[in-house]
Amino acid sequence: MTAGPRLGPGPAVLAFDVGGTDTKSALVDEHGAIRELVRTPTADGPDRPAAVVSAVAELSSRLRAAHPDVRVAATGVVVPGLVDEATGTGVFAANLGWRDVPFLDMLTAALDTPVAFGHDVRSAGRAEVELGAARGLSDVVVMAIGTGIAGAIVLGGRPHAAGGYAGELGHTLADPHGEPCPCGAVGCLETIASAGAIARRYSARTGRTVAGARDVLAASRAGDHVASAVWDDAVGALATHIARLAATIAPEAVVIGGGLAEAGDDLFEPLDARVDGLLSFHRRPRLLRAALGEDAGVLGAALAAREVVSA
Ligand SMILES: [Zn+2]
Repeated sequence: MTAGPRLGPGPAVLAFDVGGTDTKSALVDEHGAIRELVRTPTADGPDRPAAVVSAVAELSSRLRAAHPDVRVAATGVVVPGLVDEATGTGVFAANLGWRDVPFLDMLTAALDTPVAFGHDVRSAGRAEVELGAARGLSDVVVMAIGTGIAGAIVLGGRPHAAGGYAGELGHTLADPHGEPCPCGAVGCLETIASAGAIARRYSARTGRTVAGARDVLAASRAGDHVASAVWDDAVGALATHIARLAATIAPEAVVIGGGLAEAGDDLFEPLDARVDGLLSFHRRPRLLRAALGEDAGVLGAALAAREVVSA
């Protein structure tokens, strides 16, 4: 992707979103244009954190060499798992197999620019608030619903991290008599309402294998009552969760992204109706579809890098 300016004028930065499988790297110029956005397999090796840091350094050199007219002022790097931005630590990442990694120090030593280090989902949430679906709002919850359910909480315009532990929306209790969750708890929201859970629950009840939640929705539209019940359970669990958020932190909007948001009106219309039915005096959050797609995390990393320069 080399879309036109989206971030607006500011320092030129490099941004990296290190995922479980792929790493996205972007070079943003002084006009806010994304000059280049590349996707490469995430580095692996016996020392995974060291491999990731040296891959970021190598990608940095490559991008700068390809765009010698751009003077890079800072680098933003975001990673998955539990991340403590305050100490610059990758606290834990199950799928990348690390614990208590001092990434900010390692990246600062490996790169010749100031570094902003953060969390992928909070970074994506920040981008949706500053550049995407929730532009102009300051109290927002962003939910990414795919294989699991991840969340980012923005309060007063700032991401709320709580030492890395905030935003685990997928692991809130949705059904005390529900299924065990891989996290070790029982009946977590993502065992009912993630795109992965919708497909899995439908297959478990019918014995039919489906490729994903999309197939369950199609079966529901075609009159399959089991599919409708599974879809309805998911919508109901999400609505209950959103109602709790409305009472607890009263966001102006809940932005929903990830694979499940591709269902569009088939998700948002029943969800809006269910949320209405659960609220009384509360501030009713607007339910918005995420606007930035898979690039939200890397765009958020670029925003954080620019902030390091101005600080
Ligand atoms: Zn869980």
